[in-house]
Amino acid sequence: MGVKGQLLVISGPSGAGKGTVCKALLEKNDIWISVSATTRSPRAGEVDGINYFFTPREDFLKKIENDDFLEYAEVYGNFYGTPKSKVFEMLENGRDVILEIDIQGALKIKSAYPDGVFVFILPPSMEELESRITNRGSETPESLKTRLNAAYDEISFASKYDYAVVNDRVEDAVKKIESIIMAEKCRVYKIKDEILGRF
Ligand code: 5GP
Repeated sequence: MGVKGQLLVISGPSGAGKGTVCKALLEKNDIWISVSATTRSPRAGEVDGINYFFTPREDFLKKIENDDFLEYAEVYGNFYGTPKSKVFEMLENGRDVILEIDIQGALKIKSAYPDGVFVFILPPSMEELESRITNRGSETPESLKTRLNAAYDEISFASKYDYAVVNDRVEDAVKKIESIIMAEKCRVYKIKDEILGRF
């Protein structure tokens, strides 16, 4: 494909701390994060265009028809999708790009775009996961149960990813992901032409 930026796809169960890790990663690195479209309602403090493009279901379905998404999936009864055009534009301009998406979406991208690096973020334990989701205060007892059950299923997919990062301390998780990006950029097959040009 001849793109220069590194595509980094991050998944993990709800409450693993993907959002916090990504935020810390972006503060320290020149990485562009894709803002997804979703049909779910905003949580307290979430801003349209920053956290998500909050999109009515009807409009989302139109975007699917127009082939506007790189991938999309239904998660917990809502649609989530990665707007296509901007991601490739950024990669072609040499920017590293993060997609923070669910497993279904990540696996679709993995088969279409194997040059991406796929990272699974894990909580230190199920107890910690439960307390993080509960403290977030945004879930009903019903949806908390749904997310915890889903977490067990999701964790079994970690083996499909290239790397697993346990998010015990955010700074450590960030360091690990920075190292993963650096290692990916040293892969011989990705820099062969650049290396051969030097010697
Ligand atoms: P939440 O509702 O907690 O923000 O997100 C629920 C799940 O949807 C998370 O696992 C999140 O990674 C995933 N998600 C967010 N955006 C996208 C997207 O564009 N595509 C897919 N496939 N999943 C997404």
